[in-house]
Amino acid sequence: MDRYRIKPGHKVRLDRFDPADTSAFDGDKARGQKRLLKLSEKLADLQELLWAGQRHRLLIVLQGMDTAGKDGTIRHVFGYVNPQGCRVANFKVPTLTELAHDYLWRVHQQVPGAGELVIFNRSHYEDVLVVRVHGLVPPAVWKKRYDHINAFEKLLADTGTTVLKFFLHISKEEQRQRLQERLDDKQKNWKFNVGDLAERKLWSKYVEAYQDALSKTSTPWAPWIVVPSDHKWYRNLVIAHHVTRALRKLNMAFPPAAPDLENVVVR
Ligand code: AMP
Ligand code: MG
Repeated sequence: MDRYRIKPGHKVRLDRFDPADTSAFDGDKARGQKRLLKLSEKLADLQELLWAGQRHRLLIVLQGMDTAGKDGTIRHVFGYVNPQGCRVANFKVPTLTELAHDYLWRVHQQVPGAGELVIFNRSHYEDVLVVRVHGLVPPAVWKKRYDHINAFEKLLADTGTTVLKFFLHISKEEQRQRLQERLDDKQKNWKFNVGDLAERKLWSKYVEAYQDALSKTSTPWAPWIVVPSDHKWYRNLVIAHHVTRALRKLNMAFPPAAPDLENVVVR
């Protein structure tokens, strides 16, 4: 599972990562799903500790092309987590008020507080992705942002936040199938956005923008993990693995009991 983690300074080429990879489980979906169930329970226990301790914070960043599975990940990987202490922040086209501020302003407001697990469904990375691809600001402006972002995430890490960033990597063909499904399946129609077809035409521009972002902002304090995501079960497993491992590393324990608790009698 470690092979998906981008080493700091590594120049990422996405064509070297197979979106349909299932090698850590030899393509064994049934075994993978069993393992995911175990990991989900483990994750729920660890989040309970996180919340009880009110000390550490966990930030999960989810990025990927349209249909890569950001919503599905939230449902399937974090479905067992107690909603108390967990929050999802969605980042859409910025409002006028948000645009009146620096681009990290709206993001900083959403970072986890003590004991919280926060999932970013899109994030500040949109400001070097969609913004770059559509030329919403000049290159001289977005090019500075990698440094800002690294410094911002360092600030979060230095103040007790574990930051994990997942790039959900799908193939262009898989995206075609998933968009088609959104058209064909009445229950998925609501997810279909005509604008997604225009974005799809910019696929290679997005690949370039992602490669740069992954190369320049995978740091020791906020690593990127490239998640093979053509197979949803494998995507869920890779993410669940890395999240539980990061939480385990915090070596958390329940807060100690109040003194003299053993002498208290409930009548
Ligand atoms: P969705 O996540 O599918 O609901 O779509 C949200 C849309 O908002 C996507 O098309 C994003 O690219 C867009 N978006 C998010 N952040 C920004 C940003 N900073 N600037 C421009 N568009 C953004
Ligand atoms: Mg969408």
